[in-house]
Amino acid sequence: MSKLTVAIHKLTSCSGCQLAFLNQGEGLLSLLERAEILHFIEGGIYNPECPVDIAFVEGSISTPHDLERVKAIRSRSKLVVTIGACATSGGVQALRNFSQLYGKASSMKLQVYARPDFIETLDNSEPVASAINVDYELWGCPVSAAQVNRFLVQLLLGTKAKAEKEKLCMQCKRQQIVCVLVTKQAPCLGPTTRTGCGAMCPAYGKACYSCYGPSEQPNCRSLANRLKGIGLVDWEVVNRFAQIHCHSPEYRKEIEYWAPDSKK
Ligand code: SF4
Ligand code: SF4
Repeated sequence: MSKLTVAIHKLTSCSGCQLAFLNQGEGLLSLLERAEILHFIEGGIYNPECPVDIAFVEGSISTPHDLERVKAIRSRSKLVVTIGACATSGGVQALRNFSQLYGKASSMKLQVYARPDFIETLDNSEPVASAINVDYELWGCPVSAAQVNRFLVQLLLGTKAKAEKEKLCMQCKRQQIVCVLVTKQAPCLGPTTRTGCGAMCPAYGKACYSCYGPSEQPNCRSLANRLKGIGLVDWEVVNRFAQIHCHSPEYRKEIEYWAPDSKK
């Protein structure tokens, strides 16, 4: 049986999601019996223009070069799978999309880079699906090794990969984790966050900040009102949603509601 060919591409990102492939440990070795990786910079394999069965794409579209590359990736790949917050919703770099709240991209560049004149960026940071058709999305910041492994095994077995998007609270209940929102009045975003991480933060008594992004049918307004009920003022509610998935439609809508001046 011929092996599936795979490429792992990087756009604007920190490379953390690519590490989820390396972090699969023994899972990676058994995977390599069924799949051949043709491009993976973190793994030392460089062949960015090869046609493949599955292209994994990490990172947001933040530069003109990202946009050009992602279109070329689509044309050479049978399946495109986005991995991580940057690729699925624009990532933390999408905070610059709220120029009224956080300042314009040009002023952010001044604060970060010694020579901003060498940095060519688009005004917004956008998810990959804003420019091309995406077949599957794996959310998380970063995605977990188990999540990537599960997805690849499903694909190799020929089954339809199941999207993990139920609410994190369900995971807490199954693991019998005591709710930090109820018992500690901690501003937990679990009620609107998709599962996938194993409820890692509540398991350690910490509030979730939604690094896995919005769940299916999140009732963000209701949660925001609950957060107000435990004492958060409007800008603190905004700051809960204006994090890693600030540019997801669900969280963007909430940010714009509690901070009407945040619209460009
Ligand atoms: S701790 Fe957070 S995620 Fe867990 S049940 Fe409570 S609100 Fe939901
Ligand atoms: S509990 Fe929330 S913030 Fe913590 S890892 Fe899971 S999704 Fe991310």
